[in-house]
Amino acid sequence: MESCCRTAATGERQEVLRCPQCGRRGRSVDIVTLKSLLTPAARATLDPQAGYAFCREPSCPAVYFADGQVYRTQDVAVPVFQKDPSPAVPVCYCFGWTRARIHDEIARMGRSTAADTISAHVRAGRCACELTNPQGSCCLANVLGVVRSAAAARTPALLSREDPR
Ligand SMILES: [Zn+2]
Repeated sequence: MESCCRTAATGERQEVLRCPQCGRRGRSVDIVTLKSLLTPAARATLDPQAGYAFCREPSCPAVYFADGQVYRTQDVAVPVFQKDPSPAVPVCYCFGWTRARIHDEIARMGRSTAADTISAHVRAGRCACELTNPQGSCCLANVLGVVRSAAAARTPALLSREDPR
């Protein structure tokens, strides 16, 4: 669990990093995440000495920033969960849980196995969040959020189905 949910730089870099685009606080992210997920053109402009942070504000186009540098969604080779509400966007990048997969499972079974399945993979040491997930850290909080909202969205349909007329 620890190897997955830790980002290498987090311990050392706790100063407040504010996104130059939206002004919200970012979270420092290890450069290996940018190396893994930037497009080739964006990767060619990386500064390995810069301390990059991730902006999770949904309406902000910036994904990563450092002093004088911003990488936007188009500079990232995968869709960014926080910035792209489409059903096909992964919530868990390591094991392929999209919003649609979570919603479909809840629609079919009334519950989601995503968090338990992912947790088991994490415990088995299979996750690669720092390489696959643009936020560079464990996806479980996002998964639980999508499961909650999918379950809440389903409730009215369930009630109306149980309604006799
Ligand atoms: Zn921002």
